[in-house]
Amino acid sequence: MRHIAIVGSGPAGYYTAEAALRQWGDGVRVDIFDALPVPFGLIRSGVAPDHQSIKGVSRRYETTALSENVRFVGNVYIGRDVTVAELRDLYDAVVLATGAPNDRKLGLPGEDLANVFGSAAFVGWYNGHPQFSGLAPQLSNDTAVVIGNGNVALDVARILAKSKEEFAGSDIVRHALDTLLGSQVRRIVILGRRGPHQIAMTPKELGELTHLTRAWPHVDPADLPPAAEDAALEPGQRKAVSHLRAFAAVESEAETGPEPEGGRVVIDFDFFAAPRAILGETRVEAVEVERTRLENGKAVGTGETYRIPAGLVIACIGYQTSPIPDVPYDDKLGRFANEDGRIAPGLYCVGWARRGPTGTIGTNRPDGFAIVEKISDDLGGFRADGAGKPGRPGFDALAAERGIDYVKFTDWQKIDEAEIANARDGAPREKFVAVEHMIEAAGKH
Ligand code: NAP
Repeated sequence: MRHIAIVGSGPAGYYTAEAALRQWGDGVRVDIFDALPVPFGLIRSGVAPDHQSIKGVSRRYETTALSENVRFVGNVYIGRDVTVAELRDLYDAVVLATGAPNDRKLGLPGEDLANVFGSAAFVGWYNGHPQFSGLAPQLSNDTAVVIGNGNVALDVARILAKSKEEFAGSDIVRHALDTLLGSQVRRIVILGRRGPHQIAMTPKELGELTHLTRAWPHVDPADLPPAAEDAALEPGQRKAVSHLRAFAAVESEAETGPEPEGGRVVIDFDFFAAPRAILGETRVEAVEVERTRLENGKAVGTGETYRIPAGLVIACIGYQTSPIPDVPYDDKLGRFANEDGRIAPGLYCVGWARRGPTGTIGTNRPDGFAIVEKISDDLGGFRADGAGKPGRPGFDALAAERGIDYVKFTDWQKIDEAEIANARDGAPREKFVAVEHMIEAAGKH
């Protein structure tokens, strides 16, 4: 029997469990740990609340979760309640699938001012992650600056721009919806330190901006390279850039059309614009920006600076994995130090914890399968003799000794049912945003 511990119940964790079941069938027992009492990591807390079809992938993880050979062990924080060394003693292999939940820092003066957030915090806030549910951003100023030209910047801009009706069918949490409905934000500036050809946004996500009912994307035509140069781009990027060209071509309907209900919002793409400082007394009042030009694909400051008065700043510039005591960590890359997923004998990492915050949710599937193949190679293939580590019974003994009353998948199903029952009209669920309320709904105290 093989005993595998997976730390993290997001996409990378569940794809790894699925791969382990394919590899060893009834010859494996997988325990999936999560610090929260609820599973699915990024699917629940990262994917935008108005992207319900993407969230539907969790049904696939449910199939894996319901296998008798897989357990969910929720509300257990590895590195605090139980150490990685203890897990390594109990399981043949420990796979860290902890994602990249921390914001990369801008490294700019003023970034600690009030109402300046990283996207992990801001997205966590509107998705009801218990760590960020108390964030309380102020949306009382008419301008917000979103830093970065990736899909997270688009998610954040879109959520800030939507009207009440456009949140129907989403699972945005009530505290965020209430705040957004009272928002005074009417201009959202998306700062890109490089140009339109260098965006990390994808066509579908850019295309969504054209369907917003009260918001208009705007690109300055002067920022676009000559159209002929698009031919050198790979097809996906060319399609993404074609959206930017369309945004530049529509001479702002926002200025001419009738006033939409709730006021019109402009999403202004500001390219070749590198933030240099966040300004303000106690709370952000403006962003100082330097114009850039490209040199060998890199953004180089031109010396020309300007200020964007703004009351809210959200940096969407990428994420880092949380270090875990005694696990080698690569500070420069912001993830565990590893070679193709191997950290140390019996200790592995997968997904964003292995490769950094890149790719789509689906990218984690081949990642999960690849790590299981490595584990299988390292363990010398299948052993049917029952020898090996203590696995589940060993963990349960440790949990009992420490008084850890972990959350099982059946407990999560009770939380799930309660969230669905609490949904406002048209919404799929109303999430619990506090761990104690989740535990209560699970019938544990
Ligand atoms: P990302 O795609 O890596 O984009 C980060 C952006 O931040 C880049 O434009 C980068 O510019 C910029 N940046 C980095 N450091 C900066 C700095 N110091 N100052 C100014 N700009 C800076 O990261 P992400 O948007 O967080 O997305 C993470 C992953 O999740 C991506 O793979 C993304 O596609 C995926 N995702 C997908 C969806 C979806 O499919 N719907 C939604 C959300 C996220 P440079 O290029 O110049 O470095």
